[in-house]
Amino acid sequence: MSTDALLDNLAELGAVLSIRGNDLDIDAPAGVLTDRDIEALRAAKPELLRLQRIAEGLPPSEAAAECLEWIATDPAGVPLCDRCGKFCDVQTMADAWKCSACDPMANARKRRTLWLLSRVTRPRPGMIR
Ligand SMILES: [Zn+2]
Repeated sequence: MSTDALLDNLAELGAVLSIRGNDLDIDAPAGVLTDRDIEALRAAKPELLRLQRIAEGLPPSEAAAECLEWIATDPAGVPLCDRCGKFCDVQTMADAWKCSACDPMANARKRRTLWLLSRVTRPRPGMIR
């Protein structure tokens, strides 16, 4: 069963998915879920967790959450550019700051990142049904 079909089936049964801690919580009327449904839920659990986390406005995985924490930056720690004196605006994976106005490599990195961010959309809760 595809994840879409599984979600449609759950919705028809009146089951509601939610995230509890790092796990998937399923609230369904008593007796409506068959053994086959439960087996399908177990098989699709990683994808359902990912989709439900996105639907609830959470990072899609623990790795993504760690990445977002890493992105949170203390503005007081951002250095000024040696050349132009403005704040550096690109941080490398090695935790070094670069100025996109003065460093072509940093500018290319910034443009790629902005392009990737422009491709990301945050689905609304109703979109996965
Ligand atoms: Zn600069």
